[in-house]
Amino acid sequence: MKKYDVIVIGSGPAGYVCAIRCSQLGLRTACVEGRETLGGTCLNVGCIPSKALLHASHMLHEAKDNFGKLGIKCQKPAVDWQSMRKYKEETISQNTKGIEFLFKKNKVDWLQGWGSIPAPGKVAVGKETFDTTHIVIASGSEPTTLKGVDIDEKRVVSSTGALELAKIPKKLTVIGAGVIGLELGSVYSRLGSEVTILEYLDAITPGMDQEIQKSFLRILTKQGLKFILGAAVQTVTTTKTSAKTSFQCKGGDSIETLGSDVVLVATGRKPVTRELGLETLGVACSGSGQIQVDDTWQTNIKGIYAIGDCVAGPMLAHKGEDEGMALAEHLSGAHGHVDYNIIPSVIYTHPEVASVGMTEDQLKATNQAYKVGKFNFMGNGRAKANFAADGFVKILADKDTDCILGCHIIGPSAGDLIHEVCVAMEFGASAEDLALTCHAHPTYSEAVREAALACGTGAIHA
Ligand code: NAD
Repeated sequence: MKKYDVIVIGSGPAGYVCAIRCSQLGLRTACVEGRETLGGTCLNVGCIPSKALLHASHMLHEAKDNFGKLGIKCQKPAVDWQSMRKYKEETISQNTKGIEFLFKKNKVDWLQGWGSIPAPGKVAVGKETFDTTHIVIASGSEPTTLKGVDIDEKRVVSSTGALELAKIPKKLTVIGAGVIGLELGSVYSRLGSEVTILEYLDAITPGMDQEIQKSFLRILTKQGLKFILGAAVQTVTTTKTSAKTSFQCKGGDSIETLGSDVVLVATGRKPVTRELGLETLGVACSGSGQIQVDDTWQTNIKGIYAIGDCVAGPMLAHKGEDEGMALAEHLSGAHGHVDYNIIPSVIYTHPEVASVGMTEDQLKATNQAYKVGKFNFMGNGRAKANFAADGFVKILADKDTDCILGCHIIGPSAGDLIHEVCVAMEFGASAEDLALTCHAHPTYSEAVREAALACGTGAIHA
């Protein structure tokens, strides 16, 4: 039987990137995947299908609300849900087949089946056991639910079921105003559902910059989403045709209820590590089920590593990819590095929200002296022309050194704009460095430069 240098368990963004990189660096590599297609949650039931539906529903919104303003006349647009779902499926298929192609091109063997680790240096897949020097666990995460709320993926759905609904619900209740709740809530709101989002905290998008949170809430409310904040969901009961969500509002004694056709539970995700044999091996995990690793992603068992959603850190595809690449470098004898302080996060609603580095709250908590440069998209010519002037760019810089400490954007293409700030931060740039960099006109990027100018002597178009 073929002996491998590396066997990666799981083909999500962390696993498949690690496997490809290992092979590129000369290691004999296989990747174990039990799904029928490669790509894990992200490509099959996460990032990619949700972005397809966000795009399609945004196009519907543009056709309904903005085409007329642009002087484009067309018949009243209508949704053909089956065709929209087909477009989503085709998008998934193109991407998952793309990984299959990359595996062949880079000579990564796909071991089809669910993997487990009977002993260090051995990976079992179905009836076969393979020998390997290194094992990389990249087994990902799955949705959590609440006590009293059972997910049946039909009437009470996780993000997976929400991407597969047989029809567009008239009323949708979303539990949790985090990334998933807001992205999928936006999709169905644009497609015509009456969407109510119940959030336990007093703000949406926990952990985000507070000014962004407030602006985002105002914009989404204007778009028609309803929010009930400070609402602790207790139970969801279902009939054949409907669901009833019970919740208690902060400070109130009474239990309130909300009826809907479908309930989306978006209250977080947890690592998937069962059936890998970790307990028998003695691999150390935290109380929340994350596999514990050192700074080379090695577990407490020599030769067994873990990356992506199943270890600590933000559950983001790109964080997993970076860990995959860095670990591959390390396993090939080079040095791999991930800068955990500069991992951008993006919410793909319209407008988009993007963030990197420290928030003001974090800077205050660490008594760091900082200054703020802010610029509204209202002062950006391109944004005004495109009816996309809602939002702003906010840059936080060290008060003394002017070094960029964080950036928070709500506005058009925020998810792309954030990266010039990430690069600047990687190079230890000051806000002035960004401000003195020529930015093409007319682009949304000029708003980033203006925010950088606002950290110093002031923006031009404010
Ligand atoms: P989340 O942790 O982002 O948000 C969950 C929300 O549910 C929180 O606001 C929490 O306060 C609320 N909540 C918890 N219990 C509640 C209760 N009983 N009643 C009401 N509200 C309650 O989780 P998520 O949105 O499910 O996302 C899961 C993970 O997937 C996150 O780590 C996220 O970063 C990742 N993800 C990222 C993207 C992206 O990068 N665009 C997209 C999808 C998912």
